[in-house]
Amino acid sequence: MKRPLKRHAEMELLFGADFLPISKKALAKPPAAPLATPATGSGPAPSAAAGSRPKAGPPSHPWEKDWPPAFASFRDEVLGCTRCGLCSSRTQVVFGTGPATTPLLFVGEAPGQDEDLQGEPFVGRAGQLLTSTLKKFGVERRQVFIANILKCRPPGNRTPAPDEMAACMPWLQRQIAAIQPKLICGLGNIAVQTLLATKTGITKLRGRLTQAQGAPFFPTFHPAYILRNMSELPVFEADIRQALDIAGLLPAT
Ligand code: URA
Repeated sequence: MKRPLKRHAEMELLFGADFLPISKKALAKPPAAPLATPATGSGPAPSAAAGSRPKAGPPSHPWEKDWPPAFASFRDEVLGCTRCGLCSSRTQVVFGTGPATTPLLFVGEAPGQDEDLQGEPFVGRAGQLLTSTLKKFGVERRQVFIANILKCRPPGNRTPAPDEMAACMPWLQRQIAAIQPKLICGLGNIAVQTLLATKTGITKLRGRLTQAQGAPFFPTFHPAYILRNMSELPVFEADIRQALDIAGLLPAT
């Protein structure tokens, strides 16, 4: 298949309407465990030895130096995750980036190829759009936490499977409990439908403040969708501006 066609097929897989929402029962996990305690999961207990972090040594990401030890050891725990089959195909776990305490947490779907290689969420073209949109409103990427529903890349960027999302959700719940954001901003259909446990599409849900995972929740489009539908860019920008405003991050003019 030609590259643009293949890319299109991959994107359709990512953002298509054939999403199977995870059941409310599967998501109804016990409340988030304290940071340093291993979370319960269906797979084998995570161990440092199982970690897939390519490099040892000092943190490769500057913001990590400000993380409290409990948050850093939580990250190390996630890096060793073997709760679903994606642990065998990933290059590395993409834990998330940003301060351990911040008013705004963005949640996307899953790492893509760039993210899998770099160990950082939203670093590809879609991520660059998110970063530049934040910047447009006077906010640096390092001021917010960015995570995904899945911490590992599904092969070929296929849609996350319900069992993968169910296995990974406790990690996100612990991130939410630790970060205690003033607002969670869901990016795209999969993240929003999963966090709200709904089948309603993003077009209906976006721009409406609601609650998810015990926190105020604001859904918007996925930046990759915007790259394919540039006419929606003003809507996306207005949503991001509103999210920053709700989180109290919009600089005073
Ligand atoms: N898309 C996502 O949903 N998350 C990423 O980290 C990158 C692309």
